Amino acid sequence: MPATPRAFPYIWTTWLTKLLTGESSCEWAAWFKAHHQGYEKQPSDSNLAQWQIEHTALLAETGHKFLGSGYTVHVEGQNSFRLHGRSAVLAGQPDLIIESKSDSALVIDVKTGSERASHVAQVMVYMYALPRALDQYKGARIAGEIHYPNRIQRVPRGGLDQGFMHRFITLIHRVAAPEPPQPLPSAAECRFCDITIADCPERVDQGAPPSGGTTDDF
Ligand code: SF4
Repeated sequence: MPATPRAFPYIWTTWLTKLLTGESSCEWAAWFKAHHQGYEKQPSDSNLAQWQIEHTALLAETGHKFLGSGYTVHVEGQNSFRLHGRSAVLAGQPDLIIESKSDSALVIDVKTGSERASHVAQVMVYMYALPRALDQYKGARIAGEIHYPNRIQRVPRGGLDQGFMHRFITLIHRVAAPEPPQPLPSAAECRFCDITIADCPERVDQGAPPSGGTTDDF
C-alpha cells in the first residue's frame, strides 16, 4: 500500500528520542513518517510477541506497586496525548502515570532491554508535554522514572534545561519542515528502520557486504 501524505506533520515521541541522543542519525526516517501515513512496513526480525509479553508483565508489576497507597495509576492508552504546535502535532503514550493527591504526578516508562540514553530523552519529552497536552496535569509538577527489571533510573527535572529544549524544538522544526533532510543510510541504522526500499530507495540491504578497502600499512 503506498504511503499517503498527511495533511499536517504528526510526530510520535519515539521517532525523535534516538535522534536527540545520537543513537540514530537519519532524520529522513522521522521526516518521512511525520509527513506520510499508511506506509508499508519492513518486517521486523525481532521477537515482538516475546517483547510484548515481557513488557506487559513488567508494566503490571510496576503499576501494582503503587496501587492501594493513595495513588491513582493510569496505564498506556489512558495516557495518550497530542500536543498541537504551530508546525506539528507531537504525540505519545507513556506507559504509566502515577497521580498523587497533591499537585504532582510521576511518569514512568518501563523497559525490558538494556539501558539507553534515548529512554531518558523519551521520559523528558513526556515531562515536557504532559502539563501542556492533558488538562488534568496542567500546572502539575511531573517527575520521571524509567523502570528496568532490576533498576530504577530517576529522570531529573533539571534535565529540561535551555540546552535540551533548544535541541528538542529545533529537531521538531527540521522533522516538520516541508523540505526533507538528507537520508543517511547505513547497515547499522537501516537494520532497525521500518521504512521499506519502496519509500526509501537509499535503504542499505542487510545482505550487502560492508564497504572497505585494503592497506599494507599494518
Ligand atoms: S532505510 Fe535507512 S536511509 Fe532509509 S530512512 Fe531508514 S535509516 Fe534512513
